[in-house]
Amino acid sequence: MKIDKAPMCPHCGKECEKYETPIFHFADGLGWGTPFLYVCFNEECPLYVRGKKHMMEKYGQAATYRYMVYPDTGLEDVMVAANPHLLEKRMKALKSVPDDSKE
Ligand SMILES: [Zn+2]
Repeated sequence: MKIDKAPMCPHCGKECEKYETPIFHFADGLGWGTPFLYVCFNEECPLYVRGKKHMMEKYGQAATYRYMVYPDTGLEDVMVAANPHLLEKRMKALKSVPDDSKE
């Protein structure tokens, strides 16, 4: 089911933010098949906090999970953020520069 307003993250209750999917992959080279996703960017989100601990303990990596929703289908998913701050950096860039198609 298509959703047209930002959903609440079930893990922390905060509103998800619209995240434009990058042309360059940040996951496994898989396309997202959608122009944007709703992503929970809450640093205190239990999923994020637990994921960080889990990844560090299990894989010794500073990675974590973020809750996400596909706007076209309303499908809920979790993305692995290999570099947890990459998304935030991009979000900031998107907010300060409306057109980021040129470097
Ligand atoms: Zn959350």
